[in-house]
Amino acid sequence: MSDPGICSRPSPIAGLGLFATRAFAPQERIAAYSGRVVTRPPDEAKASGKVFALEIAPGTWLDGSTEDNLSRHANHACHPNAELVWDEALATAWLTATHPIAIDEEITFDYGFSLAESLFHPCACGAPDCVGRIIATPLRPAFRRHLRFSRPRD
Ligand SMILES: [Zn+2]
Repeated sequence: MSDPGICSRPSPIAGLGLFATRAFAPQERIAAYSGRVVTRPPDEAKASGKVFALEIAPGTWLDGSTEDNLSRHANHACHPNAELVWDEALATAWLTATHPIAIDEEITFDYGFSLAESLFHPCACGAPDCVGRIIATPLRPAFRRHLRFSRPRD
């Protein structure tokens, strides 16, 4: 069997992470995010808190909970090195490198969480400027302002 180029193993960010077993160049497809297309997100309670799903269009989700979907282990990071790109023709989401990725480097992407979702999901990516919450890149400046205003003033 050929090397898929990725493996899952314990991550310093959270739980199991996804790691490169070979180098990837920017724009290179790393792996498919495989799953079943469903019209509502998987029930977090039924899945005992372990949900792997991707909103591919408003109200349409890719349930990636299956064992063969290694991409589900990719963690969020404030400075990710990959992104998920939806391929309409193949109806497949591709985890795609956005930066050069070295062997043994953890593969991360922006989970794109809303402000409300971010409140329940701390980020521990380890970046010096980590905002401390899993939140979509465009919302981060707003979130930083919120943190500043919620701090007591002297
Ligand atoms: Zn972070």
